[in-house]
This record gives sequence, C-alpha cells and structure tokens, in this order.
Amino acid sequence: MLNLYGLTIDQLSDYLVKNQFKKFNATQVYEWLYQKKISDPLQMSNLNKELRDFLSREFSVTLLELATKQISSDGTIKYLFKLEDGYLIETVLMRHEYGLSLCVTSQVGCNMGCSFCASGLKYKTRDLTAAELVMQILCVEADIDQKITHIVVMGIGEPFDNYNNVMDFVRIVNHSKGLAIGQRHITISTCGIVPNIYKFADEPIRPNLAVSLHAPNDELRTKLMKINKRYPIKDIIEALKVYFEKTSRRITFEYILLHEVNDSVEQADELSDLIRGLNAYVNLIPYNPVSEFSYQSTDSNRASRFYDRLMKRGINVTLRREQGKDIDAACGQLRMKHEEKV
Ligand code: SAH
Repeated sequence: MLNLYGLTIDQLSDYLVKNQFKKFNATQVYEWLYQKKISDPLQMSNLNKELRDFLSREFSVTLLELATKQISSDGTIKYLFKLEDGYLIETVLMRHEYGLSLCVTSQVGCNMGCSFCASGLKYKTRDLTAAELVMQILCVEADIDQKITHIVVMGIGEPFDNYNNVMDFVRIVNHSKGLAIGQRHITISTCGIVPNIYKFADEPIRPNLAVSLHAPNDELRTKLMKINKRYPIKDIIEALKVYFEKTSRRITFEYILLHEVNDSVEQADELSDLIRGLNAYVNLIPYNPVSEFSYQSTDSNRASRFYDRLMKRGINVTLRREQGKDIDAACGQLRMKHEEKV
C-alpha cells in the first residue's frame, strides 16, 4: 500500500482527480499532513466523508518506529528508526547557529564501496521510498517539537543511486504547503554519478549540490572510491561545468583529510588546478577513523597547511567542525551497529 507521505502534491492531485475528487483537495490534505501534523485521514475534518474514507482505504500513513536514540554532549542526536520491513536506518540531528539540520539516510546500506566509509560495510538492501525519507524529518520534528530548517542527504546511501525517490522527497519537503524547507537549505551529496548530475542540472527545483571528491587525481581517487573507475574525475568536472552553466549554482566539493594519503601540499596544488574556474568551494572534512580501516585523520598542522595552500591559490575553502563524535554520529560514521540487538 502506498504511503501518503510519499506523494508530491502533483502526484496526489492527479490521483485525486482521476478518482473524481477535486484538485484543491490535494492542498487540503497537504495542510493536514504537514502543517497541522495530522496523519489519519479520518481526522481531516474539512474533507468530505467520501474523500476521508477513500484516503484511509487507499493509503497507509504509518510513521517510522523509533528504535533507539543517542544524545551527544554537544546536543547532536542520533536516531535509529525501524522500517516496516524491519530494516534499521539512522538519522542525525545537528544544532548549528543557523538552525537545526537533519542528516537523512537515502538507502538501506550502500553499494558505492568507498574504502574509508563505514556505510559501505553493508551492501545496499534496498532504496528508501520518498515517504521513508520524508518521515525521517517528521519523526524527528515530533520528537524535539521544533522545526527542522536544513536538510543534508548525507546519511547512509548514495542519493543519486536512488534519484527519483530522493527528488520526490525534495519536492515534498520544499513545497510551500509541504514542510516549506527552502531549496537552498537542502543539500544533496553525491559520490559523482555522472548521468544523474546531468539530469539534476535540468530539474526545475534546485537544492544545493555537493560532490565527494576526496582526491585530486584518478589514480588516488580510484583507490579510495571504486565508483571513480566508472565515472572518472574529468567526466565529473565536465558534468559540473554543464550544471553550473545551466543553474549558476555554486558547487561544494567535499574532501576528507586522510593522513599522508591525500593531504600533502602538492596535492593541494593539484586540487586547486583541477577545480579553478568552476565557482566551487572545498569543504575540508576531518576524517573520523573507522576501526575496520587503517586510515588516520590528518593532524591539525597538516590540515592548516592544506587549507592555507588552497586559500593562497585562490580557492574558497572551509574546514568543517565535527559534531556528535562521542555517539558515532559524526559524518561518515553511521552504521547499523545495533542491528542484531533490536
Ligand atoms: N554517498 C554520498 C552521501 C553519503 S556520505 C556521497 O558520497 O557523498 C557523506 C559524506 O561523508 C561523503 O563526503 C563521504 O565521503 C563522507 N565520509 C564517509 N566516511 C567518512 C568518515 N569516516 N569520516 C568523514 N567523512 C566521511
């Protein structure tokens, strides 16, 4: 049965019209779901009885089940939700000066197999539905009784390997009658699935795009990220040029600093040559060591040298601060450790 939370407003109104209801009913339903936070159609009192009965017959509105949550000393909260078929997913709430940001999971497991990432330790079992993506936000908002202001699709999974559901999710949460989260407050992070970067460039809706680069050349990038064999750096850069021409939106490159792997001054030079002229900026991410792998985090001296070098060469760069380290909720740390226990 289809979950009501997984429909964009256009899909919902088409469905209603096909079934002899009115287009404006879709707006009414959205207001109940996303503004009044009522999920049971039978309680949607301004709809006629026929429509209420129809909705409750046709759709499920079951929310995610909260399995556990962990609260970090810095206020970060890691949620573990149980899906209807029993799989567990993680969602992380982060508190920033500018608002509340939610890091959502897009797939159960991940097939990208990046050599440093804990999420890739489990192959993908399935994609999340748009409803499961939306419900991560609703469930966290209900838990904290506050509104999420920013979304990053940077949890487990590769969003561009689940393109249609992720884009429906964006349309639902962005819509003014939905959760009304601005497109510039939504960021999708991809390891560089080139055909979908082109597709994304043609979407009328434009969330921010971040690309996980992590290396300035193909030889090293292929060692770190096996997807680079299929979509090498020059193809990604080419696609991003087209994306920029069409959208004029600035691109973020994520670059994890791995000790003595990708953090030398020479590599900073190579990186700046690669991305010069792209109107991109580089987000340097401290690596969170994963016990199964031998990579180490770059020390702060090397990190500042790398940062300074990029700055000196005219690249816009930021060094990300980590949150939630004490609960394994820091970026790239998500994994379903608790699976057997729940
Ligand atoms: N598949 C997408 C989104 C999920 S990963 C992507 O590749 O972008 C989100 C970010 O966390 C990526 O940049 C990823 O490379 C990074 N990451 C993975 N493991 C990490 C770790 N242990 N420490 C820091 N960042 C990590």
